[in-house]
Amino acid sequence: MKKHEIVAMRAYIVAQGGGDYHAQAAEHWIVGEIATPMSAYPAYRATRTAWGINVLGSLVVEIETRDGTIGFGVSTGGPPAAWIVEKHLARFVIGQTPWDIEKIWDQMYRSTLFYGRKGLVLNAISAVDLALWDVLGRLREEPVYAMIGGAVRESLIFYATGPRPDLAQQMGFIGGKLPLAFGPASGEEGLRENVRRFRSMRERVGDDFWLMYDCWMALDVPYAIELANRLAPYHPKWMEECFSPDDIWAYQAFRQAMQGKMLVSTGEHEATRWGFKSLLEAGAADFIQPDVTWCGGLTELLKISALADAYGAWVIPHGSSVYSYHFVISRTNSPFSEFLMMHPDASEVVPMFSPLLEKEPIPVHGTLTLSDRPGFGVELNRDLLRRVNWHQGESLS
Ligand SMILES: [Mg+2]
Repeated sequence: MKKHEIVAMRAYIVAQGGGDYHAQAAEHWIVGEIATPMSAYPAYRATRTAWGINVLGSLVVEIETRDGTIGFGVSTGGPPAAWIVEKHLARFVIGQTPWDIEKIWDQMYRSTLFYGRKGLVLNAISAVDLALWDVLGRLREEPVYAMIGGAVRESLIFYATGPRPDLAQQMGFIGGKLPLAFGPASGEEGLRENVRRFRSMRERVGDDFWLMYDCWMALDVPYAIELANRLAPYHPKWMEECFSPDDIWAYQAFRQAMQGKMLVSTGEHEATRWGFKSLLEAGAADFIQPDVTWCGGLTELLKISALADAYGAWVIPHGSSVYSYHFVISRTNSPFSEFLMMHPDASEVVPMFSPLLEKEPIPVHGTLTLSDRPGFGVELNRDLLRRVNWHQGESLS
């Protein structure tokens, strides 16, 4: 009998936000007027919840070893991801130990190839993987960053994503990334408004503060080039995720058109080393932004990162709080972090996964020193966890 055999893996959904940070009230900036692929349809322009950005909800995966040690991981995915975790992935985890991460990852990935590869299934795999790293850290009494090579710098620095880069500047962030409000279907008027908002923010923050636009897959190449040309006098640091993640050729064309005038980034909705190999091989981005809770977890992010390093590309993980921080602090090609401003009007720094996580650290004056608590160093607010009761009398409880 293995001393640290994994005896249980449980999937939960979450009563409020957390892993699914889009599950917010209507007045929150993150669900409001933001350009999306659905902006092509006027009925779905005003809010992102109108077309279902919050439909999945959070996923929490908890792994318990024979001695009662429990670790957990978080992603987006809700009940369908919980089903995949408990009905399919659990067989590769139960009876193994948290030291078997590489084998478990490979078996989860290979066994889901026929319906997985990206999206929901990789979210589920990511949550399991993060739970394995967390429980391993607790057993070894080490923080995750120590297990993946150790810190390469003292502390983290951040840029802020949200509607108020001017406030982020006062709070000590190195830059601010605005959500783009209008897509191509809003025509010349929307385009002018996109430029006006960026210019007005540039006037407020001065010349030396990084300003970026997050385009959330909403654009086409001619629009992105026109927008970039009109923004050029206000020198955006980068333009992010302008096109569908499937349209690598659009990114390639856009980056060529930019000729280094601004950086082109993408990847928050891409997954696995092969997805990122496609982007890097095509020269589709100056740097990549995998989400560790979606791209396959930390195990896969380390491979993506090694690949990106060979291409001379930064890896700046999308959001995801401590799950990203332990990676960023340990990698020379990850020089700064994203902080998603989860306060409803972005006027305060609040924990990104609140209220799901406890002891979640936040940047103070734009910097953060990671604690040496074991695992990812956070705990669950268990009051919010819910088991899924499957229909037809079948229950996971
Ligand atoms: Mg983004």
